[in-house]
Amino acid sequence: MAGGSVHESSLAELAREKQLVETLYRVAQAVAERSDLHEIVQVVTDETTELTRAQFGAFFYNVVGRDGEAFSLYTISGVPASHFDKFPMPRNTDIFRPTYEGAGPVRIDDVLADARYGHTPPYYGMPPGHLPVRSYLAVSVLNASGEVVGGLFFGHEEPGRFTEDDERMALSIATHAGLAIEKARLLQAERTARAEAEARATAAAALEFVGDGVVMVDDHGVVRLWNRAAETISGLRAEAVLGRAIGEAVPGWERIALDVPIGEQDGIPTPATLPLDTLDGREVWLSVYGVAFSGGTVYAFRDVTGQRTLDSIRSDVIATVSHELRTPIAAVYGAAQTLRRRDVGAENSRALLDIIDGESVRLVSLVDEILMTSQIDSGKVVMSRSEVDPRAVAQAAVSSAVAAGEESSIRIEAEEGMAPVSADPEKLRQVLANLIENALKYGVNPTAPTILVRVGEVRDTVRFEVIDGGPGIPRHEQGRVFEKFYRLDPHMQQGARGTGLGLYICRELVSRMQGRIGIDSGQGRGSTFWVELPRY
Ligand code: ADP
Repeated sequence: MAGGSVHESSLAELAREKQLVETLYRVAQAVAERSDLHEIVQVVTDETTELTRAQFGAFFYNVVGRDGEAFSLYTISGVPASHFDKFPMPRNTDIFRPTYEGAGPVRIDDVLADARYGHTPPYYGMPPGHLPVRSYLAVSVLNASGEVVGGLFFGHEEPGRFTEDDERMALSIATHAGLAIEKARLLQAERTARAEAEARATAAAALEFVGDGVVMVDDHGVVRLWNRAAETISGLRAEAVLGRAIGEAVPGWERIALDVPIGEQDGIPTPATLPLDTLDGREVWLSVYGVAFSGGTVYAFRDVTGQRTLDSIRSDVIATVSHELRTPIAAVYGAAQTLRRRDVGAENSRALLDIIDGESVRLVSLVDEILMTSQIDSGKVVMSRSEVDPRAVAQAAVSSAVAAGEESSIRIEAEEGMAPVSADPEKLRQVLANLIENALKYGVNPTAPTILVRVGEVRDTVRFEVIDGGPGIPRHEQGRVFEKFYRLDPHMQQGARGTGLGLYICRELVSRMQGRIGIDSGQGRGSTFWVELPRY
């Protein structure tokens, strides 16, 4: 019955519409729930293949890679994806082209009988092993701006399978698929951007823990990054520098900028050592280099001020020590040369031998001082501890400090019945002898030539004092004379030779004997060097 068939066909239509709506709903759901483009495209392919009752369906879509290059990917439905592995992407044939050009749907009842089929080399038709497509339906997938982003292709091994209705369904889905792809792409781009921003933030955070100053300056010379080490080294807070031109924000930058070696991204140049004045008036020496990149330059620097000071101390020390060694050697050499001459009388010979003797002793004690310092510094001094008679050790120190016959200028004052002291006797003698030698060298005063060595008990210690009436030591220098290689105004001491090691050794030895050492002095008041050691 005609009425019945109309009714039936409209029921079938309704069922189809319902199927379409349900499919669109599932596609929309996939788009909403998933963010992976490939997954969305797979859902679209599967759904559309089913909707069009195709035997197999494929969705070829174009993507743009991170570096801007375009390529195609695809999803397959109805056959395993591996089936397509051996095939190239659909070629630009008369049948495929309209879809890639966005020229509207292509629906063919029998591909093999179609006039457009079989004209393109090398296969002139389907490549061997291709799915046996007879019915063919393809629609372009466009984005919101009407650009072709891919194509949906359907096939069936029997001819005449796709109806106008299938074509309409496929078109309808393709519209949604286009928008879905665009949305997924935007999401992906946003996620990539967020991940990049996070990576940048992590890198910036990590840079806070790097010991080197790291600074990024953009193409316009504006500071974009100033890490914590940069703050510490330069004394400039990040807030004071960020967003400002580096030449303005960092005083003295312009002066050194030209000398900073700049490498390209793949090569780090050898750093240059350059001075930078800090805001608080310090001069710091930086070991600095830069690396240029597409957005500006990254500078890395470290503070080598300490290193430089050390280097300069080291060369001063070498100069002092070599000079101190050279002087006695030259004297010995000169005396020996003179002795070789036949005309040297007996008296001169004796005097020359005395020089050789004296200078050799000096040489030995100098070398001993250097060795002792190196032992102290490497923690290798061995200390003994025994019961030491304070008066006897003071006497021994005086004897070793002065040449025979000169002892008259030194007076020892020692309390009667003192307790013995706990010390390494040899080291204590060495310390006191050094203080007495210094008093003789630096504490000279023609009007009060006597040097007093006083020994007495103070609380539970024994105190040794070496007192001279010389020029004294200014208060602010009193701590420094115990430093290694420190000498008071070396130019004022032309006559008095020394390395600046004596008092350093004294302090170190005394502290290893659990004692204390110090100075009571003032400019023009003479000096009292004292040592206090525990009673035995
Ligand atoms: P050195 O005698 O080899 O120079 P020291 O470490 O023994 O080294 O002494 C350090 C410096 O302390 C001396 O160079 C000198 O300037 C100063 N000094 C030491 N003793 C006295 C003193 N009794 N009076 C004045 N200055 C002294």
